[in-house]
Amino acid sequence: MSRRERRDVVIVGGGVVGAACALALAAQDLDVVLVEARAPAAWSAASPDLRVYAFAHDSARLLRSVGAWDDIRATRAHPYRRMQVWDAGGGSELVFDADQLGMRELGWIVEHALLVDRLWARLAAAGVDVRAPAQVEALEQDGDGVTLRLDAGSRIEARLAIAADGAASTLRTLAGIGTRAHDYAQAGVVGYVDSTEPHRDTAWQRFLPTGPLALLPVGQGRSSIVWTLPADEATRMRELDDAAFSDALTRASGGRLGTLTPVSPRAAFPLRRQLADAQLQGRVLVIGDAAHVVHPLAGQGVNLGLRDVIGLADSVADARRRGARWDAPQRLARWARTRRSESAVAAHAFESINRAYSNESLLPVLLRSHALGIAQAVPPLRNLLWKRAAGL
Ligand SMILES: Cc1cc2nc3c(=O)[nH]c(=O)nc-3n(C[C@H](O)[C@H](O)[C@H](O)COP(=O)(O)OP(=O)(O)OC[C@H]3O[C@@H](n4cnc5c(N)ncnc54)[C@H](O)[C@@H]3O)c2cc1C
Repeated sequence: MSRRERRDVVIVGGGVVGAACALALAAQDLDVVLVEARAPAAWSAASPDLRVYAFAHDSARLLRSVGAWDDIRATRAHPYRRMQVWDAGGGSELVFDADQLGMRELGWIVEHALLVDRLWARLAAAGVDVRAPAQVEALEQDGDGVTLRLDAGSRIEARLAIAADGAASTLRTLAGIGTRAHDYAQAGVVGYVDSTEPHRDTAWQRFLPTGPLALLPVGQGRSSIVWTLPADEATRMRELDDAAFSDALTRASGGRLGTLTPVSPRAAFPLRRQLADAQLQGRVLVIGDAAHVVHPLAGQGVNLGLRDVIGLADSVADARRRGARWDAPQRLARWARTRRSESAVAAHAFESINRAYSNESLLPVLLRSHALGIAQAVPPLRNLLWKRAAGL
């Protein structure tokens, strides 16, 4: 492998996680190439993206460190100050409140397309070499680095390759890393709704036997919904006319925000858990959805991916401080072990919650409402739960 042409890092996939990773590593003076199959369309204020995230504080800190967050927040990021979780079968409620936690907000509701747009806007200035549209077709690696062959016939040699190309990751497959997947046979229905009662800057989540319904505040009297339903029911809900959908959704929300009226098209996306068998193989790292796809009930999908990036950027910074090799095999292995255990815990925790709540028999109802009540009644437990989810 020619040393002269070798780059430091090649990242495959320029979604939120891959683009943030490119910026975070370029900020540490690494020479980064980003390969993306489809250059993203520009974000438009007039057509809000249906995919929104409950963005955590540590994710915001990462984006601030690469110079993107202030612009995103000023453009359209709605802070949420409370999260209220309640159970349709029991009656217990769990409330997280920013004031009680000594914070201005618990997090922000942000559109996926805005995040991607603003991250991409910074790539050139940060010195990231962007190849788009381009796809990876072949991978070779040895102890010192990798060679990727792209569909345009070009080759990239680098010390490290990072797979950030989503759940169906090609690079992960080329590296020989398998996955374990579980299809929930559920889908998430997403869209925007207006409510007759104010949302009070609160992220509402109601657990129903069919799955959780989340109402996330995005503007004056407007919320984004993520409604988990059995797959065929989700298809039916997506296709209902607006009046019938409004009735069904208002009922499912227990009328907490009054009448809910759809104000956008709806989409439904299939839900599954998928974990890569490893997050490191030789000199290939796997991050974001390529490494872990989790249930969206806690809005943690993208936050979990950005934590892969935070861990990697911290590891590179630590190596720099010590004058050590940032890509030493033991260092990469330590990163992979830590990340894999957090991802596995998160994926299974979300699934257990979803399963416990998607059950109408009496015992789980009693147990779960009792659990919500205990968590609510014991502030340190509640605060601990929150701090873990919010990346504090
Ligand atoms: C419809 C929908 C709604 C969702 N809603 C929520 C939600 O409410 N809350 C939540 O937390 N999470 C949600 N998720 C999950 C969330 O979107 C993901 O966790 C997050 O996008 C992961 O980011 P990523 O960058 O790892 O992967 P992705 O966003 O999948 O990005 C992967 C990138 O890689 C590119 N790529 C793919 N293959 C190749 C290739 N061979 N070569 C080059 N580039 C390639 C793709 O074009 C893409 O840009 C939702 C997902 C979907 C699909």
